[in-house]
Amino acid sequence: ESADSRLLKTTGKNMGESGVAAMATTYQKFDPAAYLQYNYVPPRADFERKDSIVPWKLACLHRAFTEGDISGGLLIDVGSGPTLYQVLSGCEVFSKVLLTDFLEVNRQELKRWLQGEGSSLDWTPYIQYVCKLEGRSPSEWTEKAARLREVVSDVLPIDVHRADCLVSCFCLESVSPDLDTFTKALGHISKLLRPGGHLLLIGALQESYYFGGPGVKIPVVPLNEAQVCGSLQEQGFTLIRLEVYTLPSDMKIGVDDVTGCFL
Ligand code: SAM
Repeated sequence: ESADSRLLKTTGKNMGESGVAAMATTYQKFDPAAYLQYNYVPPRADFERKDSIVPWKLACLHRAFTEGDISGGLLIDVGSGPTLYQVLSGCEVFSKVLLTDFLEVNRQELKRWLQGEGSSLDWTPYIQYVCKLEGRSPSEWTEKAARLREVVSDVLPIDVHRADCLVSCFCLESVSPDLDTFTKALGHISKLLRPGGHLLLIGALQESYYFGGPGVKIPVVPLNEAQVCGSLQEQGFTLIRLEVYTLPSDMKIGVDDVTGCFL
């Protein structure tokens, strides 16, 4: 690789990172109440008009969650902003809904509605409209509102441009059948980190099994220090510090065959 192409890659990466930082700065001025007024009242949210954008979105989401096979345990809404319309259909077919946003002001807006406190927009016509799509009478909207409040388990911060730090302890090696899968799992979780972010990884050394309960013997990929370092290097991590612990013999109590662990 020539010095020029390395420079280009570096410049490209830095431009991307400074662009992300500039976006974050712009968002500090985001005004939830204004955003709701711009986008979530008529003409954009005119429930008498078929060609209004909000009824179109609600109808699409309704079809997606009722006509297909999309249902299950956890539904995560990424970048919820101060809005709830996007989970009005999903909340009926998932038992848990997580709302997320980058900004505290948006998370506060959502939490106010969830706690039954005043919110910047009245979501009633939205809930009534989705009730109608579901073949329920619009007067059943209070039940739907209660369902939404019940299934939304939290409103969490999120940054889609990745985390600053990950912690993972005794997970990757005890869920991977072999070294190759362990290395791939490291690669998968590395995608969650921002460039320059940190991974604190604790794991077992030379362990081939542990008991997850009486008679529940769970296989573990036995790793040595060199293999851990090799996997980290293969996935583009820079090793800052390696600490190794050797298990004293009186801690070998028969619940696994671990000989030590690494951080
Ligand atoms: N989902 C809502 C909707 O349908 O109207 C809000 C969309 S709004 C155009 C974009 C949202 O992305 C804002 O709520 C903003 O706070 C959030 N956001 C900004 N930066 C983000 C980031 N790095 N990661 C996740 N969300 C981010």
